Amino acid sequence: MTALVIGAGPAGMSAAMWLHDLSIPFRWVEATDRWGGTLARVGNPVRNYPGSLPITGPELVTALVEPLTALGLAPEWNARVTSATRVDGDWEVTLSTGMAARTERFRALVLCTGTAPRSLGFEAERTHKGRGVEVSVNRNIPRYQGRTVVVVGGGDAAVEGALLLAPACAHVTVVHRRAELRAQPRFIERLRDTQNIDLRAPAEVTAIQSNDDGVDGVVLSTGETLHADGVFVRIGVVPQIPAGLEPLAGADGYATSDARGDAGNSVYVAGDVGAADHQSVAWAVGSAGRAVRALADAQGFTRSAS
Ligand code: NAP
Repeated sequence: MTALVIGAGPAGMSAAMWLHDLSIPFRWVEATDRWGGTLARVGNPVRNYPGSLPITGPELVTALVEPLTALGLAPEWNARVTSATRVDGDWEVTLSTGMAARTERFRALVLCTGTAPRSLGFEAERTHKGRGVEVSVNRNIPRYQGRTVVVVGGGDAAVEGALLLAPACAHVTVVHRRAELRAQPRFIERLRDTQNIDLRAPAEVTAIQSNDDGVDGVVLSTGETLHADGVFVRIGVVPQIPAGLEPLAGADGYATSDARGDAGNSVYVAGDVGAADHQSVAWAVGSAGRAVRALADAQGFTRSAS
Protein backbone atom coordinates (compact mmCIF):
# COMPACT_ATOMS: atom_id res chain seq x y z
CA MET A 1 0.00 0.00 0.00
CA THR A 2 1.27 3.47 -0.85
CA ALA A 3 -0.30 6.67 0.41
CA LEU A 4 -0.14 10.01 -1.38
CA VAL A 5 0.41 13.22 0.60
CA ILE A 6 -0.88 16.23 -1.33
CA GLY A 7 0.66 19.56 -0.33
CA ALA A 8 3.89 20.77 1.27
CA GLY A 9 2.65 23.30 3.80
CA PRO A 10 3.02 22.57 7.53
CA ALA A 11 0.29 19.88 7.38
CA GLY A 12 1.95 18.07 4.48
CA MET A 13 5.36 18.32 6.17
CA SER A 14 3.96 16.85 9.38
CA ALA A 15 2.10 14.09 7.50
CA ALA A 16 5.30 13.11 5.68
CA MET A 17 7.23 12.93 8.97
CA TRP A 18 4.56 10.79 10.60
CA LEU A 19 4.31 8.41 7.62
CA HIS A 20 8.09 8.12 7.60
CA ASP A 21 8.16 7.50 11.34
CA LEU A 22 5.49 4.79 11.08
CA SER A 23 7.30 3.20 8.10
CA ILE A 24 4.23 3.59 5.89
CA PRO A 25 5.15 3.78 2.19
CA PHE A 26 4.13 7.09 0.72
CA ARG A 27 4.66 9.52 -2.11
CA TRP A 28 4.42 13.26 -1.75
CA VAL A 29 3.49 15.95 -4.26
CA GLU A 30 3.33 19.75 -4.16
CA ALA A 31 1.64 21.80 -6.89
CA THR A 32 4.12 24.68 -6.66
CA ASP A 33 7.90 24.81 -6.49
CA ARG A 34 8.21 25.86 -2.85
CA TRP A 35 7.67 24.77 0.72
CA GLY A 36 5.25 26.25 3.18
CA GLY A 37 1.88 26.91 1.51
CA THR A 38 0.10 29.86 3.09
CA LEU A 39 2.71 30.09 5.88
CA ALA A 40 5.31 31.16 3.32
CA ARG A 41 3.16 34.27 2.66
CA VAL A 42 2.71 35.32 6.30
CA GLY A 43 4.81 38.45 6.77
CA ASN A 44 3.80 39.08 10.40
CA PRO A 45 5.53 37.17 13.20
CA VAL A 46 3.81 33.89 14.12
CA ARG A 47 3.29 34.12 17.89
CA ASN A 48 1.34 30.98 18.70
CA TYR A 49 3.58 28.11 17.65
CA PRO A 50 5.10 26.36 20.69
CA GLY A 51 8.85 26.00 20.62
CA SER A 52 9.36 28.89 18.25
CA LEU A 53 10.12 32.52 18.99
CA PRO A 54 7.86 34.94 17.12
CA ILE A 55 9.37 34.71 13.64
CA THR A 56 7.88 35.42 10.22
CA GLY A 57 6.13 32.74 8.19
CA PRO A 58 9.07 32.19 5.80
CA GLU A 59 11.47 31.93 8.77
CA LEU A 60 9.24 29.35 10.41
CA VAL A 61 9.00 27.45 7.12
CA THR A 62 12.81 27.27 7.05
CA ALA A 63 12.82 25.88 10.59
CA LEU A 64 10.15 23.28 9.71
CA VAL A 65 11.99 22.15 6.58
CA GLU A 66 15.31 21.51 8.33
CA PRO A 67 14.41 18.16 9.99
CA LEU A 68 12.73 16.97 6.78
CA THR A 69 15.88 17.67 4.82
CA ALA A 70 17.87 15.77 7.45
CA LEU A 71 15.59 12.78 6.87
CA GLY A 72 15.88 13.11 3.09
CA LEU A 73 12.16 13.86 2.76
CA ALA A 74 10.90 16.22 0.04
CA PRO A 75 7.89 16.28 -2.24
CA GLU A 76 7.89 16.06 -6.00
CA TRP A 77 7.64 19.74 -6.94
CA ASN A 78 5.28 21.21 -9.54
CA ALA A 79 3.11 18.10 -9.48
CA ARG A 80 -0.56 19.07 -9.30
CA VAL A 81 -3.39 16.60 -8.71
CA THR A 82 -5.84 17.31 -11.54
CA SER A 83 -8.17 14.37 -10.94
CA ALA A 84 -8.77 11.61 -8.42
CA THR A 85 -11.06 8.68 -9.18
CA ARG A 86 -11.97 5.71 -7.01
CA VAL A 87 -11.05 2.47 -8.84
CA ASP A 88 -11.25 -1.00 -7.23
CA GLY A 89 -10.59 0.31 -3.71
CA ASP A 90 -7.65 2.48 -4.82
CA TRP A 91 -7.38 6.11 -5.85
CA GLU A 92 -6.39 6.67 -9.47
CA VAL A 93 -4.73 10.06 -9.43
CA THR A 94 -3.72 12.17 -12.43
CA LEU A 95 -0.66 14.29 -11.72
CA SER A 96 0.02 17.22 -14.00
CA THR A 97 3.70 18.15 -14.11
CA GLY A 98 4.03 21.15 -16.40
CA MET A 99 3.50 19.98 -19.97
CA ALA A 100 3.14 16.31 -19.03
CA ALA A 101 0.55 14.34 -17.08
CA ARG A 102 0.59 10.83 -15.68
CA THR A 103 -1.82 8.60 -13.79
CA GLU A 104 -0.86 6.58 -10.72
CA ARG A 105 -2.70 4.49 -8.15
CA PHE A 106 -2.60 5.01 -4.39
CA ARG A 107 -4.30 3.17 -1.55
CA ALA A 108 -4.94 6.33 0.50
CA LEU A 109 -4.79 10.11 0.14
CA VAL A 110 -3.70 12.60 2.80
CA LEU A 111 -5.23 15.91 1.77
CA CYS A 112 -3.04 18.80 2.96
CA THR A 113 -3.91 21.26 0.19
CA GLY A 114 -4.63 24.27 2.40
CA THR A 115 -6.32 27.41 1.17
CA ALA A 116 -5.72 30.02 -1.52
CA PRO A 117 -6.49 33.75 -1.41
CA ARG A 118 -10.08 34.46 -2.53
CA SER A 119 -10.25 36.51 -5.70
CA LEU A 120 -12.77 39.12 -6.82
CA GLY A 121 -13.05 37.36 -10.16
CA PHE A 122 -11.57 40.07 -12.40
CA GLU A 123 -9.26 39.23 -15.31
CA ALA A 124 -6.85 41.91 -14.00
CA GLU A 125 -6.18 39.77 -10.92
CA ARG A 126 -4.52 37.30 -13.27
CA THR A 127 -2.95 39.65 -15.82
CA HIS A 128 -1.58 42.11 -13.23
CA LYS A 129 -0.89 39.64 -10.42
CA GLY A 130 2.15 40.89 -8.50
CA ARG A 131 2.30 43.91 -10.83
CA GLY A 132 -0.40 46.19 -9.49
CA VAL A 133 -2.89 43.68 -8.15
CA GLU A 134 -1.47 42.28 -4.93
CA VAL A 135 -2.33 39.93 -2.10
CA SER A 136 0.71 40.28 0.19
CA VAL A 137 1.07 43.57 2.04
CA ASN A 138 4.34 43.02 3.91
CA ARG A 139 6.24 42.00 0.80
CA ASN A 140 4.99 45.04 -1.14
CA ILE A 141 5.34 47.92 1.30
CA PRO A 142 8.64 49.19 -0.20
CA ARG A 143 7.22 48.97 -3.70
CA TYR A 144 4.25 51.23 -2.93
CA GLN A 145 6.25 53.85 -1.01
CA GLY A 146 4.65 57.25 -1.71
CA ARG A 147 1.97 55.69 -3.94
CA THR A 148 -1.83 55.62 -3.76
CA VAL A 149 -3.44 52.24 -3.12
CA VAL A 150 -6.83 50.59 -2.62
CA VAL A 151 -7.32 47.71 -0.19
CA VAL A 152 -10.42 45.57 -0.77
CA GLY A 153 -12.06 43.76 2.16
CA GLY A 154 -13.42 44.41 5.62
CA GLY A 155 -11.74 41.70 7.72
CA ASP A 156 -8.53 41.72 9.76
CA ALA A 157 -6.35 41.08 6.73
CA ALA A 158 -7.70 44.10 4.85
CA VAL A 159 -7.80 46.54 7.75
CA GLU A 160 -4.47 45.50 9.30
CA GLY A 161 -3.04 45.56 5.77
CA ALA A 162 -4.26 49.16 5.29
CA LEU A 163 -2.68 50.13 8.64
CA LEU A 164 0.64 48.60 7.59
CA LEU A 165 0.56 50.35 4.22
CA ALA A 166 -0.48 53.78 5.53
CA PRO A 167 2.93 54.92 6.90
CA ALA A 168 4.58 54.17 3.55
CA CYS A 169 1.86 55.19 1.10
CA ALA A 170 0.61 58.63 0.12
CA HIS A 171 -2.98 57.47 0.48
CA VAL A 172 -4.91 54.28 1.24
CA THR A 173 -8.60 53.66 0.58
CA VAL A 174 -10.31 50.62 2.07
CA VAL A 175 -13.27 49.42 0.03
CA HIS A 176 -15.69 47.09 1.81
CA ARG A 177 -18.93 45.65 0.48
CA ARG A 178 -20.93 46.13 3.73
CA ALA A 179 -21.34 49.15 6.01
CA GLU A 180 -19.91 47.27 9.02
CA LEU A 181 -16.31 46.15 9.04
CA ARG A 182 -15.65 42.60 10.22
CA ALA A 183 -12.16 43.41 11.56
CA GLN A 184 -11.25 43.56 15.26
CA PRO A 185 -12.36 46.78 17.04
CA ARG A 186 -8.73 47.75 17.81
CA PHE A 187 -7.93 47.75 14.08
CA ILE A 188 -11.10 49.68 13.21
CA GLU A 189 -10.28 52.31 15.84
CA ARG A 190 -6.77 52.80 14.45
CA LEU A 191 -8.16 52.91 10.90
CA ARG A 192 -10.47 55.80 11.87
CA ASP A 193 -7.57 57.62 13.56
CA THR A 194 -5.20 57.33 10.59
CA GLN A 195 -5.18 60.52 8.53
CA ASN A 196 -4.30 59.08 5.14
CA ILE A 197 -6.78 56.17 5.19
CA ASP A 198 -10.29 56.60 3.79
CA LEU A 199 -13.09 54.09 3.89
CA ARG A 200 -15.70 53.44 1.21
CA ALA A 201 -18.44 51.22 2.64
CA PRO A 202 -20.77 49.90 1.54
CA ALA A 203 -19.16 49.77 -1.88
CA GLU A 204 -18.07 47.02 -4.22
CA VAL A 205 -15.28 47.11 -6.78
CA THR A 206 -16.93 46.63 -10.17
CA ALA A 207 -13.76 46.98 -12.29
CA ILE A 208 -10.00 47.25 -11.98
CA GLN A 209 -8.69 49.75 -14.51
CA SER A 210 -5.29 49.72 -16.14
CA ASN A 211 -3.32 51.62 -18.77
CA ASP A 212 0.04 51.07 -20.50
CA ASP A 213 1.86 51.82 -17.22
CA GLY A 214 -0.10 49.22 -15.23
CA VAL A 215 -2.98 49.41 -12.78
CA ASP A 216 -4.58 52.82 -12.70
CA GLY A 217 -7.59 52.55 -10.41
CA VAL A 218 -10.89 50.94 -9.51
CA VAL A 219 -14.50 51.65 -10.33
CA LEU A 220 -16.97 51.28 -7.46
CA SER A 221 -20.61 50.22 -7.39
CA THR A 222 -21.39 53.74 -6.16
CA GLY A 223 -20.25 55.10 -9.53
CA GLU A 224 -17.07 56.59 -8.07
CA THR A 225 -13.69 55.96 -9.73
CA LEU A 226 -10.64 55.88 -7.45
CA HIS A 227 -7.12 56.35 -8.74
CA ALA A 228 -4.78 53.61 -7.47
CA ASP A 229 -1.25 52.53 -8.33
CA GLY A 230 -1.95 49.23 -6.58
CA VAL A 231 -5.01 47.22 -5.56
CA PHE A 232 -4.65 44.85 -2.61
CA VAL A 233 -7.28 42.10 -2.64
CA ARG A 234 -7.63 40.91 0.97
CA ILE A 235 -10.99 39.16 1.04
CA GLY A 236 -10.24 35.93 2.84
CA VAL A 237 -9.30 32.50 1.59
CA VAL A 238 -10.93 29.51 -0.10
CA PRO A 239 -10.09 25.86 0.64
CA GLN A 240 -8.38 23.99 -2.19
CA ILE A 241 -9.99 20.63 -2.92
CA PRO A 242 -8.63 18.82 -6.00
CA ALA A 243 -10.96 17.78 -8.83
CA GLY A 244 -12.58 14.45 -8.06
CA LEU A 245 -12.63 15.07 -4.31
CA GLU A 246 -15.32 17.79 -4.38
CA PRO A 247 -17.87 15.58 -2.54
CA LEU A 248 -15.69 16.09 0.55
CA ALA A 249 -16.60 19.78 0.65
CA GLY A 250 -19.12 20.84 3.26
CA ALA A 251 -21.54 23.75 2.88
CA ASP A 252 -18.72 26.23 3.62
CA GLY A 253 -16.41 24.63 1.04
CA TYR A 254 -14.00 23.15 3.61
CA ALA A 255 -13.21 19.42 3.56
CA THR A 256 -15.27 17.43 6.02
CA SER A 257 -14.01 14.45 8.02
CA ASP A 258 -14.59 12.68 11.32
CA ALA A 259 -12.88 13.68 14.56
CA ARG A 260 -9.64 11.93 13.48
CA GLY A 261 -9.48 13.51 10.03
CA ASP A 262 -10.88 10.38 8.33
CA ALA A 263 -13.08 11.53 5.43
CA GLY A 264 -13.99 7.99 4.34
CA ASN A 265 -12.90 6.09 1.23
CA SER A 266 -9.27 6.17 2.47
CA VAL A 267 -9.03 9.96 2.33
CA TYR A 268 -7.56 11.76 5.36
CA VAL A 269 -7.79 15.51 5.90
CA ALA A 270 -5.21 17.71 7.64
CA GLY A 271 -4.54 21.42 8.05
CA ASP A 272 -6.35 24.47 6.74
CA VAL A 273 -8.31 22.67 3.99
CA GLY A 274 -10.42 21.13 6.75
CA ALA A 275 -10.29 23.98 9.24
CA ALA A 276 -12.86 26.66 8.51
CA ASP A 277 -12.43 28.50 11.79
CA HIS A 278 -9.23 27.34 13.47
CA GLN A 279 -6.44 27.80 10.96
CA SER A 280 -2.96 27.83 12.50
CA VAL A 281 0.42 26.19 12.09
CA ALA A 282 -0.09 24.26 15.32
CA TRP A 283 -3.39 22.87 14.07
CA ALA A 284 -1.88 21.93 10.70
CA VAL A 285 0.98 20.03 12.34
CA GLY A 286 -1.22 18.32 14.95
CA SER A 287 -4.10 17.43 12.64
CA ALA A 288 -1.69 15.79 10.19
CA GLY A 289 -0.32 13.55 12.96
CA ARG A 290 -3.87 12.66 13.91
CA ALA A 291 -4.85 11.92 10.29
CA VAL A 292 -1.81 9.71 9.71
CA ARG A 293 -2.57 7.75 12.89
CA ALA A 294 -6.11 7.20 11.58
CA LEU A 295 -4.67 6.06 8.25
CA ALA A 296 -2.24 3.71 10.01
CA ASP A 297 -5.04 2.14 12.05
CA ALA A 298 -7.31 1.71 9.03
CA GLN A 299 -4.55 0.23 6.87
CA GLY A 300 -3.22 -2.09 9.58
CA PHE A 301 0.06 -0.35 10.44
CA THR A 302 0.25 -0.95 14.15
CA ARG A 303 3.79 0.07 15.17
CA SER A 304 3.71 2.87 17.76
CA ALA A 305 5.33 6.12 16.75
CA SER A 306 8.54 6.70 18.66
P1 NAP B 1 -12.21 37.20 6.63
O1 NAP B 1 -12.20 37.46 8.09
O2 NAP B 1 -12.95 36.03 6.10
O3 NAP B 1 -12.76 38.52 5.95
C1 NAP B 1 -12.92 38.58 4.56
C2 NAP B 1 -13.47 39.93 4.21
O4 NAP B 1 -13.58 40.00 2.79
C3 NAP B 1 -14.88 40.17 4.78
O5 NAP B 1 -14.99 41.48 5.21
C4 NAP B 1 -15.77 39.87 3.59
O6 NAP B 1 -16.94 40.66 3.57
C5 NAP B 1 -14.91 40.30 2.43
N1 NAP B 1 -15.24 39.55 1.22
C6 NAP B 1 -15.34 38.21 1.09
N2 NAP B 1 -15.65 37.89 -0.19
C7 NAP B 1 -15.74 39.06 -0.85
C8 NAP B 1 -16.02 39.39 -2.19
N3 NAP B 1 -16.25 38.46 -3.13
N4 NAP B 1 -16.03 40.70 -2.54
C9 NAP B 1 -15.78 41.65 -1.61
N5 NAP B 1 -15.51 41.41 -0.33
C10 NAP B 1 -15.48 40.11 0.05
O7 NAP B 1 -10.72 37.04 6.02
P2 NAP B 1 -9.34 37.73 6.39
O8 NAP B 1 -9.52 39.15 6.72
O9 NAP B 1 -8.43 37.34 5.29
O10 NAP B 1 -8.90 36.97 7.72
C11 NAP B 1 -8.83 35.54 7.73
C12 NAP B 1 -8.54 35.06 9.16
O11 NAP B 1 -7.23 35.47 9.55
C13 NAP B 1 -9.52 35.66 10.17
O12 NAP B 1 -9.78 34.71 11.15
C14 NAP B 1 -8.74 36.80 10.75
O13 NAP B 1 -9.15 37.13 12.07
C15 NAP B 1 -7.31 36.25 10.72
N6 NAP B 1 -6.34 37.36 10.65
C16 NAP B 1 -5.90 37.85 11.83
C17 NAP B 1 -4.99 38.90 11.83
C18 NAP B 1 -4.49 39.42 13.13
O14 NAP B 1 -5.05 39.08 14.18
N7 NAP B 1 -3.46 40.26 13.13
C19 NAP B 1 -4.58 39.47 10.62
C20 NAP B 1 -5.07 38.95 9.43
C21 NAP B 1 -5.99 37.89 9.46
P3 NAP B 1 -18.14 40.40 4.64
O15 NAP B 1 -17.64 40.98 5.92
O16 NAP B 1 -19.27 41.13 4.02
O17 NAP B 1 -18.34 38.91 4.67
